[in-house]
Amino acid sequence: MPPAIRVEGLVKDYGDVRALDGLDLTVPEGSFFGLLGPNGAGKTTFISVLVGLVRKTDGTAEVFGHDVEDDYQQARDAIGLAPQEFNVDRFFPIKEVLMHKAGYHGIPEDEASERADAALKRAGIYDKRDVRFDWLSGGMKRRFMLARALVTDPDLLILDEPTAGVDVELRHDLWEVITDLNDEGTTVLLTTHYIEEAERLCDEVAIIDSGRNVTVATPDELTEKGGDTLTVFLESEPATPPELDDERIESLTVEGDELVIRTPSASELVPEVVRQLDAQGQTASDIDIERTSLEEVFVDLTRREDGDEGEATDDESRDDDEDDAREAEVHA
Ligand code: ATP
Repeated sequence: MPPAIRVEGLVKDYGDVRALDGLDLTVPEGSFFGLLGPNGAGKTTFISVLVGLVRKTDGTAEVFGHDVEDDYQQARDAIGLAPQEFNVDRFFPIKEVLMHKAGYHGIPEDEASERADAALKRAGIYDKRDVRFDWLSGGMKRRFMLARALVTDPDLLILDEPTAGVDVELRHDLWEVITDLNDEGTTVLLTTHYIEEAERLCDEVAIIDSGRNVTVATPDELTEKGGDTLTVFLESEPATPPELDDERIESLTVEGDELVIRTPSASELVPEVVRQLDAQGQTASDIDIERTSLEEVFVDLTRREDGDEGEATDDESRDDDEDDAREAEVHA
């Protein structure tokens, strides 16, 4: 079985703006995969290429082995997308919107009705089935976006910031629904700005920046990479700063009676530090170990040397792909 997503050397230029710059990524079938990156890193563009809303400039992109352009329909039929923006037909009852969508994917009417009910139940808005989209609350709209992504029973569920701006309760609810789907075998690709979300849900995370992947790893591997901060509080302020010698110490700063040590693994280093301090006539009164958070690792990996914050997604700068997008959105 081919991977759910495989892209190699993926490039997308919008006029002069290079949104994807040789992206390589493989998302294994069945995984819960997170895509993290600062604003403007190219996450939405990547998703848009996968679902055929945007034409790639170069490279390959396949979904379950189907080329996203040459085998567009097969690739697209495998994907359920919950986009960031509410691109919904607002004037029909939401169940009808789901049935239209199923119909567009070739599902007969009876089955479409059953699937629409099932998707609405799963997303927790079945009792709103006869209400039009405009009249739903913000949280219900998010639920509806998930229901719409699910109505075709996709093998690959793509969620572009599904919990942006929702309250804590709904966020947890959505996490549960998505996790259940993944447990049942659906591959999930999730973009998010909530690092905690990626840490909790994802088996693997890709951090992308300026249209390239910076790193791909499990959340645990990433935080391990960040290492620990070990703070040693001395009983009294030393007359001369203590000297510590161990190759596991990456940096040491002394401020008054506090030593701050950066190290890959603090717990292994503590006995040696205590021993060396003792030899210099110092006693530790307290010790604190802090693991670098995924958030700190993320900031570190994507910090731009030139201070460029990245270009925000700017509607005015969009080129003719927007017309493609509008056209395709009708069926999205
Ligand atoms: P965010 O986290 O803010 O949603 P993102 O990672 O999804 O950002 P993209 O929306 O893919 O990033 O944008 C990548 C780059 O491409 C940005 O510099 C953006 O301004 C630019 N861009 C995106 N769409 C278009 C377009 N249609 N026309 C011109 N430039 C675009």
